[in-house]
Amino acid sequence: MALDPAPRVVVLGAGFAGLRAVRRLGHARVATLWVDARNYHCFLPLLYQVATAGLEPQDIAYPARSILRRLPVVDFQLARVVGADPGAQRLRTTTGEHIPYSHLIVATGGAAEDFGIPGARDATFRLYDLEDARALRNHVLRICECATTEVRATERAALLTFVIVGGGATGVETAGALAEFRRHVVPRDYRAFEASAMRIVLVEAGPELLPPFPPVLRARARRDLEAFGVEVRAGTRVSRITPVGVELAGGAHIPTHTAIWAAGIRAAPVAADLGFPTGRSGRLLVEPTLQIPGQPRVFAAGDVALVAGQERLPQVAQVAIQQGEHAAENVLRVLRGEGLLDFQYRDKGALATIGRSRAVAAIRGLEFAGRPAWWVWLVIHLVMLIGFRNRLVVLVNWAWNYFTYDRGLRAIVGAEHETSEDGERARAAGGPG
Ligand SMILES: Cc1cc2nc3c(=O)[nH]c(=O)nc-3n(C[C@H](O)[C@H](O)[C@H](O)COP(=O)(O)OP(=O)(O)OC[C@H]3O[C@@H](n4cnc5c(N)ncnc54)[C@H](O)[C@@H]3O)c2cc1C
Repeated sequence: MALDPAPRVVVLGAGFAGLRAVRRLGHARVATLWVDARNYHCFLPLLYQVATAGLEPQDIAYPARSILRRLPVVDFQLARVVGADPGAQRLRTTTGEHIPYSHLIVATGGAAEDFGIPGARDATFRLYDLEDARALRNHVLRICECATTEVRATERAALLTFVIVGGGATGVETAGALAEFRRHVVPRDYRAFEASAMRIVLVEAGPELLPPFPPVLRARARRDLEAFGVEVRAGTRVSRITPVGVELAGGAHIPTHTAIWAAGIRAAPVAADLGFPTGRSGRLLVEPTLQIPGQPRVFAAGDVALVAGQERLPQVAQVAIQQGEHAAENVLRVLRGEGLLDFQYRDKGALATIGRSRAVAAIRGLEFAGRPAWWVWLVIHLVMLIGFRNRLVVLVNWAWNYFTYDRGLRAIVGAEHETSEDGERARAAGGPG
């Protein structure tokens, strides 16, 4: 059947879901506009490596326009969408411009969920984009610099304490990477203090780490982290965070200038402004076909979508990839006048790395850990990265880190860099922002 003569599909979001959707539509030769507030696709699962000086920001980002070189019917627009007029079928951007669509796929991803905990929003570092990762890396490096000249023991201890809130994959991987930094970088770069003076605390409200993994692997991840010197506090709620410490529900206080928030996810803010119904954590409610109820030409995919009857699907890359492709497939079906298909997730498994040669994997009924899981993690992440150059650079970086026990270029670069020591201290003590 012939396609609708003049469709103009808009795909909002250049994450995993949006990328898959534009590829599917582009290969079907449907005129598509890809819109994102950044001009690149970011590989979020490796953000923590940028934040801990393992990789450079550009290693995990790939320009949207380069992705489109072989898809001539797809164009890209750099724009932050702030609203929509579903009746008129158009989006509204920060500049007041309107972007019309014949069909729309919303794939705007997630943002940190702070659960209303005081300080969780303003006094923590978070990991949702490259700027977050760069800010955290600069902060960690600056904190270490400050600690080399700090003579007050209690202040030095606070400077060298890193608290990660949230025992999911991001929290576990960040804690593991910081532990590696302590083991391999601190003794060589920061001789003014003992590596053991650096304290890494992982706080998780639930009873165990990595809840989606089988119990054996959860226990293994915890053992590996503890063997790495990470203090794991499971079953512990955070009640308040300030620039100088983390308060726990029982009343304990951990003095620190570095709280990293990896505790929860909600929909990116724009989801609330599009005029479509939202559900838990501000996510867009969608039918099993990924259509917005009452909007047959509008779909949502990835972290932003809450699928009816499949509310327990995890907010992970595989779900986003499969939903992005499915939403595009259903748009093509609408254009061809065919019936739509319900989304069905094919679970390919879960992986988390804990540090050098340590990981846990649950793949197709197999549960394994240690070096084999780490190799699988390495290969899968390399394959999933976009662009041959990025794959090569990341591979070389990892090989370098592996054989030299070193980490990436540890330069403090960015707008907030201060040269005066007073400035360094003020900023370090003030934490994020
Ligand atoms: C630190 C971290 C580590 C992770 N690790 C893993 C892992 O190891 N394994 C795994 O499977 N999953 C992991 N995830 C989850 C996984 O990355 C997400 O599930 C996946 O990225 C979701 O894809 P998405 O396309 O829905 O959204 P995203 O990838 O978040 O992309 C959303 C896009 O929408 C754009 N956008 C948002 N708002 C607007 C707006 N108003 N206007 C224009 N553009 C907008 C954003 O700029 C972004 O490009 C991790 C996530 C994070 C944050």
